Amino acid sequence: MEAQAQINALREKLNLWSHQYYDLDAPTVPDFEYDKTLRELEELEEQFPELVTPDSPTQRVGGQPLETFQQVRHEVPLQSLQDVFAPQELTAFAQRVCQSVSKPRWVFEPKVDGLSVALEYEDGVFVRGATRGNGEVGEDVTENLKTVRSIPLKLNNAPRRLIVRGECYMARTVFEKLNRRREEEGRPLMANPRNAAAGSLRQLDPKVAASRRLDCVIFNIQLSDGPAFDTDSAALDYLSDLGFPVIDHPVYDDLNDVSQAIAALGESRERYPFDIDGAVVKLDSLPDRELLGATAKFPRWAVAWKYPPEQKESVIEDIVVQVGRTGVLTPKAVIRPVRLAGTTVTNATLHNQDFITEKDIRIGDTVVVQKAGEIIPQVVSVNLSRRQSGSEPYLLPNHCPVCGAAVVRDEDGSALRCTGAECPAQLVRTITHFASREAMDIEGLGPSIIEQLVEKKLVNRPADLYTMDWEQAAALEGLGEKSAGNLRSAVEQSKSRGLTRLLTAFGIRQVGVSAARSLSRTFPTLDALMEASEEELTAVEDIGGITAKSLKDWFAAPQSRHLVEELRNAGVSFDSTETPAGTLLAGKTVVLTGTLSRPRSEVKKLLEEQGAKVSGSVSKKTGFVVAGEAAGSKLTKANELGIPVLSEEDLISLLNGEREMP
Ligand code: AMP
Repeated sequence: MEAQAQINALREKLNLWSHQYYDLDAPTVPDFEYDKTLRELEELEEQFPELVTPDSPTQRVGGQPLETFQQVRHEVPLQSLQDVFAPQELTAFAQRVCQSVSKPRWVFEPKVDGLSVALEYEDGVFVRGATRGNGEVGEDVTENLKTVRSIPLKLNNAPRRLIVRGECYMARTVFEKLNRRREEEGRPLMANPRNAAAGSLRQLDPKVAASRRLDCVIFNIQLSDGPAFDTDSAALDYLSDLGFPVIDHPVYDDLNDVSQAIAALGESRERYPFDIDGAVVKLDSLPDRELLGATAKFPRWAVAWKYPPEQKESVIEDIVVQVGRTGVLTPKAVIRPVRLAGTTVTNATLHNQDFITEKDIRIGDTVVVQKAGEIIPQVVSVNLSRRQSGSEPYLLPNHCPVCGAAVVRDEDGSALRCTGAECPAQLVRTITHFASREAMDIEGLGPSIIEQLVEKKLVNRPADLYTMDWEQAAALEGLGEKSAGNLRSAVEQSKSRGLTRLLTAFGIRQVGVSAARSLSRTFPTLDALMEASEEELTAVEDIGGITAKSLKDWFAAPQSRHLVEELRNAGVSFDSTETPAGTLLAGKTVVLTGTLSRPRSEVKKLLEEQGAKVSGSVSKKTGFVVAGEAAGSKLTKANELGIPVLSEEDLISLLNGEREMP
């Protein structure tokens, strides 16, 4: 690959990762990989300096602050640290320092894997705390930091002004407790303590932040008009006397001792209450630091040694397949228990079939696992020398392990998905879709009620909606007699929605509102549609071979047939209510604006099928405007001219003959 293309590819990757990390608090790769990739880019840019641009990820320290908190410009920037990955790199750093400083002494500190904060005191009172942000500008999270018990709110004998820098973290024990609770509550788990800490500090409600029990450890004086010190270690001891929780900071004269300390810390990382992702080596003498100064990003007097993620070997005892709420089959390796990065792990992520095939992972294999930032470890590689004879490549089942229905691969990815119309694993989602506005439009039947109906086993299959015990439903949280009554009549009304909505509600692959409409314009009833051959289906306007096959497969599956029969018994209408093509909106000009829930082209088609003309601008001749989210000037103009404005849902109702023409 030529250098420019390679640089672009690396930048794109890094930008995505840092957005996920800093802005979304949801990293997708271990830090180690990020750092290595950044290094790769730095090296390339060094080779080709003419290709460096100001917006390259090498040119900035971190992510952009979010806008929900007030921004704070740091009086003294919170710099980043140059990473080193190998002993030669550490030696090279020390040699560079020795060119300007004779007999340097080194402060050695664990690199706490949390998030950096600046704490500001006036006359000994904690007045402001901010996150690092991009190093220059951070977010004001004072109220949340006040909830951190290890941060002193008042200092005795403090200088008039003092800004210290430290690392906020969530102790591993607190993190594990938090995740255990989230698991019990069925909420998604936090990836790692650092993300949990970052998420907690950015809670807009300090009460939530308080409940997260964060901690903080201090490692620097940023600014002070108190006593001056010659060394960092003396300054840190002073902070300790003032009442700050200060980081461990032994001092060494000899670089060999530093190397030993790095190795020892690497071994004993687990003994600390917080995650450690490296070790920081800093020059102790403050005047010498001044002398060496900093580059645009890093001080020249310190480096961070990065530990690679810990890896261990284990054996895959079994592969289990779980079915998620969206029907995706996820394989998980059950491994012989190993201690890894502070916890005992018993399973590892296998992602999907492609991942398994690429690494050729088999049951019985000895594999290398690592945990780097995420809660469940990854399988890094297979140790082929220990493969048992007679083992077979692993293939995910082609039937859903929960309901037995056929499994198909997504058109656009590596996910395998269960197609069961009544699959219990997907029930909440299936019903949510069934009841949605564009499908059976059951008002008041939202996700939280559905969750409860499913959990309390009042509904075990979609068609149970029509036969459930309404007295029991009235006892659900947030429902009550009256709402239960309303809901019951909404469910009752949905029986007569007609074929288009029913087909949409089935959630058959490839069959959305538009295809459902085409089909029910051709077939007067569901039974007629079910009897149609693939040829008859492809003869319908806009129905291609793939959709026809998807329909045939769906109707052939036992679960689908069962669902259809149950709906028939419940009295749900199977009849088409479509008017003949091309009449409903004949002669009308319609304008679309804003973001709609489906592609504009699809909505345009729906309108044109009924004879409407879709125009790009609003005038007196416009029949009506369909406005989605964040609609702009066209909506304003429509309002000025008094042109009727419909939401997307209004439009669907109009097309279904459930609404008067505006
Ligand atoms: P990096 O994020 O890899 O650029 O590393 C720099 C970050 O390490 C700083 O922003 C701090 O948040 C963090 N850090 C953790 N412990 C220390 C420490 N003892 N000294 C300096 N920085 C530390």
